[in-house]
Amino acid sequence: MSAKDVLKLIKDEEVEYVDVRFTDPRGKLQHVTLIVDIIDEDFFEEGFMFDGSSIAGWKSIDQSDMKLIPDTSSVYIDPFYAEKTLCVHCNVVEPDTGEPYSRDPRSTATKAEAYLKASGIGDTAYFGPEAEFFVFDDVRYSVAMNKVSFEVDAADAAWNTDTEYEMGNSGHRPGVKGGYFPVNPTDAAQDLRSEMLSTMKRMGMKVDKHHHEVASCQHELGLIFSSLTDQADNIQKYKYVIHNVAHAYGKSVTFMPKPIKGDNGTGMHVNMSIWKGGKPLFAGDKYADLSQEALWFIGGILKHAKTLNAFTNPATNSYKRLIPGFEAPVLRAYSARNRSGCVRIPWTESPKAKRVEARFPDPAANPYLAFSALLMAGLDGIKNKIDPGPASDKDLYDLPPEELADIPTVCASLREALESLEADHDFLLAGDVFTKDQIEGYLALKWEEVYAYEHTPHPVEYQMYYSC
Ligand code: GLN
Ligand code: MG
Ligand code: MG
Ligand code: MG
Repeated sequence: MSAKDVLKLIKDEEVEYVDVRFTDPRGKLQHVTLIVDIIDEDFFEEGFMFDGSSIAGWKSIDQSDMKLIPDTSSVYIDPFYAEKTLCVHCNVVEPDTGEPYSRDPRSTATKAEAYLKASGIGDTAYFGPEAEFFVFDDVRYSVAMNKVSFEVDAADAAWNTDTEYEMGNSGHRPGVKGGYFPVNPTDAAQDLRSEMLSTMKRMGMKVDKHHHEVASCQHELGLIFSSLTDQADNIQKYKYVIHNVAHAYGKSVTFMPKPIKGDNGTGMHVNMSIWKGGKPLFAGDKYADLSQEALWFIGGILKHAKTLNAFTNPATNSYKRLIPGFEAPVLRAYSARNRSGCVRIPWTESPKAKRVEARFPDPAANPYLAFSALLMAGLDGIKNKIDPGPASDKDLYDLPPEELADIPTVCASLREALESLEADHDFLLAGDVFTKDQIEGYLALKWEEVYAYEHTPHPVEYQMYYSC
């Protein structure tokens, strides 16, 4: 859509406000609302100045001026505001040079797409993320925050959350791992999910389904695959819609990776494929009908998985999900069959749908940075012909210890992921997609979280050690 088209839309839809939106390094969508009277064609070219010093991890106070450049291909009408408001996602640029701001995640995504094209390996990378989430009653959430969280275990959550919709009908509550996916009244969130998905459709998002997930009160909505930056925009819209529809129902949503002890955690599997000249590059005649390029791509993902964790699993809480027994991966292995490795090749007859699924990411990730880092790792695999080794078709949770010892793992903590990012990040710097300054800034933010977590006595420590 051109600036002229957007101005026409503003007129036709009688828009009152324009909401300029961008994403901070931690992945939170931020916004400023402008009265429509000041929006003209120049606005889309010249952008909008704002003070970047109050955004965590960006500029210092003495050099705080930054500029938002709206991407006119990303406009949508906000479904929640009382006044008709057009939203547009922006890239952040340096006001004096017009160059992308090196710590702007959306600019990184744009650069990653350009790097793919320039590499000659492919034209477009497609991303199909599956972000799960939990829905709690608002009151339950505050109880969980005030009570010590380790008391909120799976059985407790099943008892108190999903089915309070049912006005106290306790007969249909799903048990631990019992949510996937009986019809209502066991599934008590049908209308909530439908309203979320319909809202996304009305915003122009390409969606295909929704369902209850395995844990009690856990859900997933389906986004149809799209290109990197567009799909990262979609994840921001996905979270925004899910949070706000739930809020309107008096519910609270969390995308944190492991909110409940003893039941499945919250993943964001990322399905990926590359196309070149209108053809799917990942379809071929190797293992699971993959091409050689797809296998090398997997090789790159597995090789750099520990660095990727810093972006794809960026919370201290992420590592409580990456444990055996809950459909989340621990081992750096790939397979067409089992779901316990880091990479799965979903079964499909169609070469066009041939893709690899990274199963370790979670939705605490900044989608612009996570998708870009995954693509850069995969491209490093293709460029350097990184062999992923043989596929692991056994259930990896049940391997005997001697076989387990040979398979490398993902990180066990955010600390380990940050140390991995410090040690292994050259593949991210290729083509200036990520920058050293950006990685430094990101690490500083994330070390703050590690220290906050490591320095705080944990409720479970009181339980284990108070009487020692
Ligand atoms: N919740 C699981 C995870 O943590 C995934 C379950 C599924 O989608 N089959 O990744
Ligand atoms: Mg799914
Ligand atoms: Mg799922
Ligand atoms: Mg999946």
